[in-house]
Amino acid sequence: MSDSALMNTYGERTTTLVKGDGAYLWDSEGNRYLDALSGIAVCGLGYNHPAVTRAIAEQAEKLIHCSNLYLIEPQQALGQILVDTSGMEKVFFSNSGAEANEAALKIARKFGQQKGISHPHVITADRSFHGRTMATLSATGNTKVKQGFEPLVEGFSHVPYNDVDAIKAAATANTVAIMVEPVQGEGGVNVPAPDYLNALRELCDSNDWLLILDEIQTGNGRTGRFFAYQHNNILPDVVTTAKGLGNGVPIGACLARGKAAEILQPGNHGSTFGGNPLVCNAGLAATKTLLEQDLMTRAAALGEMMLTQFRETLSDVACVVDIRGKGLMIGIELDQPCGDLVAQAKQKGVLINVTAGNTIRLLPPLIISDEQARTIVDTVVDLIKQ
Ligand SMILES: *Cc1c(COP(=O)(O)O)cnc(C)c1O
Repeated sequence: MSDSALMNTYGERTTTLVKGDGAYLWDSEGNRYLDALSGIAVCGLGYNHPAVTRAIAEQAEKLIHCSNLYLIEPQQALGQILVDTSGMEKVFFSNSGAEANEAALKIARKFGQQKGISHPHVITADRSFHGRTMATLSATGNTKVKQGFEPLVEGFSHVPYNDVDAIKAAATANTVAIMVEPVQGEGGVNVPAPDYLNALRELCDSNDWLLILDEIQTGNGRTGRFFAYQHNNILPDVVTTAKGLGNGVPIGACLARGKAAEILQPGNHGSTFGGNPLVCNAGLAATKTLLEQDLMTRAAALGEMMLTQFRETLSDVACVVDIRGKGLMIGIELDQPCGDLVAQAKQKGVLINVTAGNTIRLLPPLIISDEQARTIVDTVVDLIKQ
């Protein structure tokens, strides 16, 4: 049991981070760490980025919050940039990833209801992660996330990821949407076949289903394009993002297009804080910086470089099952649980993550130098070899 005032939702935590700059973080004892996690794919521009800090400070001096009963300039500006960059048409701003997915699922439900389907059904993937709210944990393909929280929200079925035939087999007359991550993050950095999303697009088109992509982790440049679906030259009907959108301020977005864009009407959805002036001005600065500096292209090149280095140095290491990734979303699957490596890497001054029990997950800031990337690779390789 934790003796602090905080609910023990995160297990034992021993390190207090107090300061960040670029790709480095410092703890309360003055130790410096090279960050290969970015606050779980959040701080793509690293820490203390001047453009984001300035945007927050300037907005705080003008207006931190007003309700969505009024027009909000930074919200309109960020919405426009996201629409222009994504090929989508309309944006709803939320405070988190799970809430962005809630908006997407409400769009799917109402889309179904409008077609006369009274029990709309959404197909999602095994090993997916869509959030911790009741609907999003029900959508999630991981029993650990759901256990103890029954009854779940109905209307979801789960199929193996990267398996188009499994979707066809699971579909019913009530099916209204497919919802997947373009690369599964929490599930172990699972990269599907290059044409998986194209096949899903075709399937949705021929059945009048919505294609919902959860880009909460893959979005905002992480995989080498602004959104990962841009590798496939397709457009989803709905896409959600959050983590990298505000470089650390709590903001999420649900973007929709075509028939999905007009489904939520006045009174159907809303949020007190969602898209408020402060977070949108931060998101605007972060997104402009990402696009102006073309950090997506940089992420693609860095990711290729790191994957090549890992493959070269780990090719003959028996415990390595697979090395995979896209852009700066990299997974190294071992043949055994490897959670202990997190503390060992920290000891060596590098912050990493382990997900799905046996997969080292690296999500470094997109602004890391070649040398910093090499340091991350060398540290992780040394630890695996030990
Ligand atoms: C993190 C994540 C979520 C949940 O986002 P929160 O902001 O924690 O609610 C949903 N989907 C994916 C793919 C994620 O990586």
